Amino acid sequence: HAKKAGGGLAVFFEDDMNRLASERAQLESDLRHAVQDGELEVHFQPLVDCRSGALLAAEALVRWHHPTRGAVSPATFIPIAERSGLIEELGSWVLDAACRNFAAWQRAGYPLARVAVNVSSRQLRSDRFVATVRTTLAKHGLRASQLEVEITESVLVDDMALATARLEELRRLGVSIAIDDFGTGYSSLAYLKTLPVDALKIDRAFIVDIATSSGALALVRAIIAMAQATGKTVVAEGVEHQAQADLLRQMGCYCIQGYFYHRPMSAAALGGLLAEQRRPAPLLGAEALDH
Ligand code: C2E
Ligand code: MG
Ligand code: MG
Ligand code: MG
Repeated sequence: HAKKAGGGLAVFFEDDMNRLASERAQLESDLRHAVQDGELEVHFQPLVDCRSGALLAAEALVRWHHPTRGAVSPATFIPIAERSGLIEELGSWVLDAACRNFAAWQRAGYPLARVAVNVSSRQLRSDRFVATVRTTLAKHGLRASQLEVEITESVLVDDMALATARLEELRRLGVSIAIDDFGTGYSSLAYLKTLPVDALKIDRAFIVDIATSSGALALVRAIIAMAQATGKTVVAEGVEHQAQADLLRQMGCYCIQGYFYHRPMSAAALGGLLAEQRRPAPLLGAEALDH
């Protein structure tokens, strides 16, 4: 009898797994056409100087408007693109769109220092990646220092030697490098001594409790101190409340990204915001992102 019940459970579980697998396969085949069919769009979220409210930079975040499912989260489809190899084409498309929009903002005289693009492990490992970056920058007339590449620590775990080589090539070009979701990976902190990293982006998971937990606050203070001691810019991600922004400012973390200031928005919406915020002293606050 027990065996029978266990068997039933296994069948139920297997059904679930099959459903998930076929859902994934369906999304993967839909994603294959998404770039050509114009279903992807790049949104941008500003990084803000919490002392002045000035916009410092913008992070490109891809959006997929699926014809029948509506918006699919990048947290769902980026891993699918990564495993299926589609990430190279998708990533190049995002890089191009990010640079094209940034170049237009530059021409309009908007004082954004740079645009940040997320790069996944497989993309960074590709032999074509650095050439694609170089060509895309040239195509849009951007200086390499106007691009920041965001990688997560998992990239370093996948193949430390190759990732290091690639990051050094990017650095020689003049591209800046940020560690995204800092603190959530399983890699050794030793890389901070040797890798050409310009900025640490403290993950939202650490920021969420700083106004309510002294332990969380102490941890973030320590991360900020570590970034400062190693000469890196520090960015706080996922700031949703005034109290969090105030605490970060008191601790010397001035570059903030989060819903408290701005949600990710379309390129047109960010263009409008930049036009509105243009000031007589255009580089006001730029030292918060000084790299
Ligand atoms: P990420 O690079 O860490 O990007 C930050 C994510 O946090 C974004 O989610 C953003 O919308 C969200 N966020 C920003 N501020 C707040 C806040 O105050 N509260 C909360 N709850 N969330 C906030 P999104 O756009 O859904 O992207 C999720 C992840 O997908 C990104 O995390 C990144 O890892 C990946 N991703 C997005 N676009 C790309 C891309 O073009 N290429 C690659 N390889 N990955 C991408
Ligand atoms: Mg990111
Ligand atoms: Mg992040
Ligand atoms: Mg993240």
